[in-house]
Amino acid sequence: MIKAAVSGAYGRMGKMLIDNIVNSDDFELSAAFDIFNIGNDAGELSGVGTVGVPISDPENMGEILADTNTDVMIDFTAPDATVQNVTAASENGVNLVIGTTGFTEEQRNTIEQFIMKNNNSAVIAPNYSVGVNVFFKMIKEMSRYLSDYDVEVLEAHHNNKKDAPSGTALKAADVISETLGGKKYVYGRQGHAPRGDEIGIHAVRGGDIVGEHTVLFAGEGERMEIKHQAGSRQAFAGGAIKAARWITGAKPGIYTMEDVLGF
Ligand code: NAP
Repeated sequence: MIKAAVSGAYGRMGKMLIDNIVNSDDFELSAAFDIFNIGNDAGELSGVGTVGVPISDPENMGEILADTNTDVMIDFTAPDATVQNVTAASENGVNLVIGTTGFTEEQRNTIEQFIMKNNNSAVIAPNYSVGVNVFFKMIKEMSRYLSDYDVEVLEAHHNNKKDAPSGTALKAADVISETLGGKKYVYGRQGHAPRGDEIGIHAVRGGDIVGEHTVLFAGEGERMEIKHQAGSRQAFAGGAIKAARWITGAKPGIYTMEDVLGF
């Protein structure tokens, strides 16, 4: 059995991850962390019934991960929290699956340095859905053929999402930019804003939209769009569980979802 801990256990993703772990044949929930509901049963809060694992204070994370012999921790929290949590997990030899998005470059570097210094294994991905990772492959291919078309990346998410644009939209722009030898990004447009040779990136926030990403390639007299729509957070949770299974047997290093899926 793979002993997995969930950080952000009372969050939208955390609850779904606990449900997946508890209902899998090869995982066991070893620990759960959140800043609210400390002491309450993680299973009851997730709606899967009593599992005998309380929500613990992230302040005690290192000690609890060591005591429970946790193999992997899945963290879907917030950028500052993830930096702290990676430190605690990494120092205790726990592998990581990081789903949090919205890191600054400095935060991302700190996380990577910690993982490398402690010889850990981690998957870091802005989007764990299998479909989105196929979408990344497709837009890479499309941008090769449509290299002189205008490119716009559009994303839509629920009204509680804190970072904008989404990590997935940024990764989509990066995939295209790398393929085309480097592009400038323009975030939204306002006032006098003539189009240049940029990738435009636009974020919509509203209601309970789980996550939508569209890349538009617009040329003279025609346009092509490729769109991914997540209908449920299970698309991300299922992928994160795949990543947790995969990272448990991986050599030390930092991996992406493409590595997990063998692309
Ligand atoms: P959410 O519902 O706000 O959940 C985050 C949870 O983490 C909250 O319960 C939060 O508590 C808790 N938390 C805050 N600080 C913590 C700490 N130090 N240790 C442990 N838990 C802590 O958000 P969500 O929708 O689940 O998303 C979480 C993150 O995952 C976001 O960055 C989001 O963009 C990202 N995400 C990524 C993917 C992907 O596939 N990579 C998919 C979906 C979401 P409070 O509410 O009290 O702050």
